[in-house]
Amino acid sequence: MVKIGVLALQGAVSEHVRSIEACGAEAIAVKSRSDLALVDGLILPGGESTTMRKLIDRFDMLVHLQQFAAKGKPMFGTCAGLILLANKLVGYEFAHIAALDATVERNSFGRQVDSFETTIEIKNVAVDFPAVFIRAPHIVEVGDNVEVLASHGGRIVIARQENILGCSFHPELTDDHQITAYFMEMVKESLAKKANV
Ligand code: GLN
Repeated sequence: MVKIGVLALQGAVSEHVRSIEACGAEAIAVKSRSDLALVDGLILPGGESTTMRKLIDRFDMLVHLQQFAAKGKPMFGTCAGLILLANKLVGYEFAHIAALDATVERNSFGRQVDSFETTIEIKNVAVDFPAVFIRAPHIVEVGDNVEVLASHGGRIVIARQENILGCSFHPELTDDHQITAYFMEMVKESLAKKANV
């Protein structure tokens, strides 16, 4: 069975676990470097990126998360998770895991009161996905190797660069598991590639 981890330091962890299990994979809460070694792919949940970064540093996981991505293992960041993945953040001099060649702006869809839900078409994934935005970031710009899968109101909200997937919104808060299933296919592809080398 494919093993998908959810970084479980802070944020919407149990919702992702539920979605992974609904897709027929094993979900593992990743709280340490040794947990990370057990999984074939990793989801970085929504929550608060600054808090998550502090905890990543406290548990000495940053380099290990960077290596996980560099080895070609799939990572999927939702909302705060997207912020952790981006290699440039508007208004900040530093990035976090920096595995996705994209510039991300935090809280760019407004404050908590401006949270909203809308239906979007996502290339190769879904024609009418219910996207929930909560103090969401958006992708301002992507590098040449990054494929934009959907935009909303002229802003990029989900993009993929090989083994890295990032989205602004919260698929785990709905009962639509199509994005999780798409990520699971990415994980299966990476395992098949590994088996062939
Ligand atoms: N605004 C949060 C941050 O900057 C992200 C919000 C979310 O994950 N729902 O980390």
